[in-house]
Amino acid sequence: MATNPGQRVHRKPEKQETMNIKNSIADRDLEALRAAIAGQVFVPGQAGYDQARQAWNLAVDERPSVVVVAGSAADVAQAVRYARAHRMRIAPQGTGHGAAPLEPLDGAMLLRTTRMRQVDIDPAARTARAEAGAVWQDVIVPAAEHGLAGLAGSSPNVGVTGYTLGGGLGWLARRYGLAANSVTAAELVTPGGDLVRADANHETDLFWAVRGGGGIGVVTALEMRLYPVAELYAGDLFFPIARAAEVLHAWREWTATVPDEVTSLSHLLRLPPLPEVPEPLRGRAFAILEAACLGDSRTGAELIGPLRRLGPELDTFAMIPASALGQLNMDPPQPVPGEGNGAFLADFPAAAIDALVAVAGPNAETPLDSVEVRHLGGALARAVPGGGAQPSIDASYLLYAAGAALTPDLAGPVRAHVQAVKDALAPWHASYDYYNFEETPAAAAAVLPPASARRLQEIKAAYDPDQVIISTHPVWPTRP
Ligand SMILES: Cc1cc2nc3c(=O)[nH]c(=O)nc-3n(C[C@H](O)[C@H](O)[C@H](O)COP(=O)(O)OP(=O)(O)OC[C@H]3O[C@@H](n4cnc5c(N)ncnc54)[C@H](O)[C@@H]3O)c2cc1C
Repeated sequence: MATNPGQRVHRKPEKQETMNIKNSIADRDLEALRAAIAGQVFVPGQAGYDQARQAWNLAVDERPSVVVVAGSAADVAQAVRYARAHRMRIAPQGTGHGAAPLEPLDGAMLLRTTRMRQVDIDPAARTARAEAGAVWQDVIVPAAEHGLAGLAGSSPNVGVTGYTLGGGLGWLARRYGLAANSVTAAELVTPGGDLVRADANHETDLFWAVRGGGGIGVVTALEMRLYPVAELYAGDLFFPIARAAEVLHAWREWTATVPDEVTSLSHLLRLPPLPEVPEPLRGRAFAILEAACLGDSRTGAELIGPLRRLGPELDTFAMIPASALGQLNMDPPQPVPGEGNGAFLADFPAAAIDALVAVAGPNAETPLDSVEVRHLGGALARAVPGGGAQPSIDASYLLYAAGAALTPDLAGPVRAHVQAVKDALAPWHASYDYYNFEETPAAAAAVLPPASARRLQEIKAAYDPDQVIISTHPVWPTRP
């Protein structure tokens, strides 16, 4: 018997049939996306999916419905439009250093910018333009050829974009402030799929949000100021961890005396017994004082003098190129599975030091490799006129604690110890945490000044009312 095609069209499809139709449309559209972009597209089960979804933090298991590895800003725009058409949320990501706090990506698109690493330096204007996938090393090296430095953090492998969107606190912070407040323009794809340029005169709300508020949309490139720092006096003083209390008290007193040209931190570091760790340090635990001093070696040596007189076991202070600052903190150069967290501290008085030493010092049973306290103040404390979502920091110190969780069963205990360190300093916590160091799921309101969190909600309502973009710390849209 011949069938009437018209009848088939008007019959209400069964549920299974509807799903098949939807899947075949999605497959066809995915093929169209593949064909339209220079980058790559991966779905679960496909070769390359696991590598494409892997974050730098190996403890994070992201399982998005699709991964797009964008090759260009045009690719990003195509991917955003595809996601919108298929009602998918979008998680923009570079390296995945900051993947730990993200909500689960089930049903979402992971939009990776790892292939977009072009960096252009304008030596006359003292600016850099970095594509969204660039890591700090990509900026530091070409900038140094012109005697210039960007506001990188402690690790040269961290992405410029994620770091800057969350504030960006590095070795020149007390003199030049947060990296976010040195951004002069952002190119981004809005949640609606339009490629726009945001700066002081265009898309000013987006420009504000990008500078420390985690951003709204998918950044394709950032432009930023560079500073004339070719070399500086910097290094580490290593003390056996048994001297932690004495060293931290002395450092705390010293921080009250230093000018903005000095950015420093104290670091309780437990080094693994691995062959790649140099012999005198291998398998040992230290209290380390690290500092970067702008200026010449004579001035630097004078400034460091009081710390040096404590008699360190090892002293690496010297004039170094600004491009070598990434070595000071000994951050892991390769991806690791890890748990970490931090907190802004309103102050770090003697009682706080004693509390920290009790929980992470020589007598503590701890799986944490690294517990550091950074000195803030200086330029960080002064509101930047026309600055972004973190115009200044109302805290004097910054805590960060972390440990490797080499097997999944270690993640819980390491996380518990990280939390114990944070809790030990609770009496001195500032009113909100640092965006970039809050590695547990936390709303933007927990990591931004209250006025900034409110403005971000309003901007979110205007540009992303459906909450398409998944950002490190979620923002729920509200009308003013
Ligand atoms: C070893 C180490 C050292 C660190 N040192 C410092 C430090 O000294 N100072 C400091 O401030 N922080 C530091 N951090 C924290 C770091 O800045 C954050 O983890 C930051 O989020 C990493 O950015 P990323 O681009 O590398 O990571 P990603 O995980 O790729 O990005 C983090 C988040 O940024 C957003 N994002 C990234 N790319 C885009 C884009 N193209 N468009 C829109 N949104 C985007 C997304 O919300 C994303 O989830 C350090 C982290 C590690 C692991």
